[in-house]
Amino acid sequence: MEELRKTVIKEIFAHGQDQKKVLVKGWVRTKRVSKNVAFIAMNDGSTIHNLQVVVDLADISESNLYDVQTGASIAVTGKLVESKGSGQALELLAEKIEIIGKANPDEYPLQPKKHSLEFLREIAHLRFRTSTFSAITRIRHALIFAIHKFFNDRGFYNIHTPIVTGSDAEGAGDMFRVSVLDPQNPPLDENGRVDFREDFFGKETHLTVSGQLEAELAALAMSKVYTFGPTFRAENSNTSRHLAEFWMIEPEMAFYDIHDNMDLAEEMLKYVIKYALDNCSDDLDFLNKRFLDEEKRKKQEERSEMNLIERLEFVLNNPFERITYTEAFDILKNSKPNKKGKFNYPVETWGMDMQSEHERYLVEKHYKKPVIVTDYPMEIKAFYMKQNDDGKTVRAMDVLFPQIGEIIGGSQREENYDRLMNRINELGIEKETLWWFLETRKYGTVPHSGYGLGFERLMLFVTGMGNIRDVIPFPRTPKNAEF
Ligand code: ATP
Ligand code: MN
Repeated sequence: MEELRKTVIKEIFAHGQDQKKVLVKGWVRTKRVSKNVAFIAMNDGSTIHNLQVVVDLADISESNLYDVQTGASIAVTGKLVESKGSGQALELLAEKIEIIGKANPDEYPLQPKKHSLEFLREIAHLRFRTSTFSAITRIRHALIFAIHKFFNDRGFYNIHTPIVTGSDAEGAGDMFRVSVLDPQNPPLDENGRVDFREDFFGKETHLTVSGQLEAELAALAMSKVYTFGPTFRAENSNTSRHLAEFWMIEPEMAFYDIHDNMDLAEEMLKYVIKYALDNCSDDLDFLNKRFLDEEKRKKQEERSEMNLIERLEFVLNNPFERITYTEAFDILKNSKPNKKGKFNYPVETWGMDMQSEHERYLVEKHYKKPVIVTDYPMEIKAFYMKQNDDGKTVRAMDVLFPQIGEIIGGSQREENYDRLMNRINELGIEKETLWWFLETRKYGTVPHSGYGLGFERLMLFVTGMGNIRDVIPFPRTPKNAEF
């Protein structure tokens, strides 16, 4: 007998034909048994929609369905028929049901009911099987693809920058050490300190906090490049917007000034958001309903004015506001919440770093749209940013989003060798580990720019989820590296 080829559920809803015989494999979400028929909702991860399997108990007895339990994997052969009640155009009239893997209902942690996100984090190995997390997973994939497509279509080259780094001057946060030395009994140098010359790489190494410095090297030959890799920060910020391991998109462009850089960042964000709206509408509709449910639980004044889809469309349809740090500072200083002492960090002196409460005020209350802040005080930004002639500010640009705060941090880079060296000396940065970076300013230097987009921050915005731990499959945060 000819073997039927497996059909994915998404295919059935897109192109399935009435009366066609199909074989479907997937996992049971729910089973409902009534007098003469049983209904099984099954899902294979290809779509948010479950396929309804209808079992005539005269053909397949109820006792044969005993192991068809939530979480079990099954193969169903049958005929597609037009559905009366499942909410889908087609359902599957079962002729044969095979249990591939059982799931004991007394032990299986996922019940067909709403579980809290906190609980689902504890069972991250199984949460892909929930509607919420599978929708997030599909959107994550679509956004990754859209980002590569965006850059590819514009002539950028993807560069793999190293994950293990020997320079500790990237300056973006605390780093994780990479070492094979025996922690109990490490070799010591003449001064009694751990001798990293004996370590695997012959020097102290860490996990990278950014691929930027290496991406700059590539840009100064290939003109337009980007990295999209994992980055690691050992900062102890236990917030809903920080991970210890996250993914970052870092384009770097020769012959781009800060304005070209802002244009690219805005175009990219709009492109990927539009891509999600065009290609993930089922998943976004599902998450939108979820978002509205969550909103109902909030106090009236904390509810957002727009639903998830409206918010995405709003960002697409409005130019981002572009202001300087100094303008932002004045707005914040004279703002109602500042005068009434409502900010946790009062805005008093020019030069202070902006906190996420300030960023969100500018975006959500003042301008009511995404904002790009430029020309930050030199003291609060990294050494490689291009210095303005005022001697106080640098050509930084942060993109601030509603709900998120900072989603992109970038700048025009200092291409002038002497100015860069001066700054490195002022800050006491070890130049020995950066000699290669400095040489690009000696040989054929050009104005260039780039930025870093935190991929999970983008995910938060597009999915409307509130916690960054729920938009990456296996989050790494302080005291948590399970799975
Ligand atoms: P923040 O002030 O929010 O901690 P940052 O100033 O440390 O951000 P950058 O060093 O400029 O951020 O990194 C570039 C981008 O990477 C940020 O705009 C943000 O989107 C993302 N990002 C930074 N730190 C984290 C983190 N710990 N987890 C997830 N994303 C992050
Ligand atoms: Mn940070």
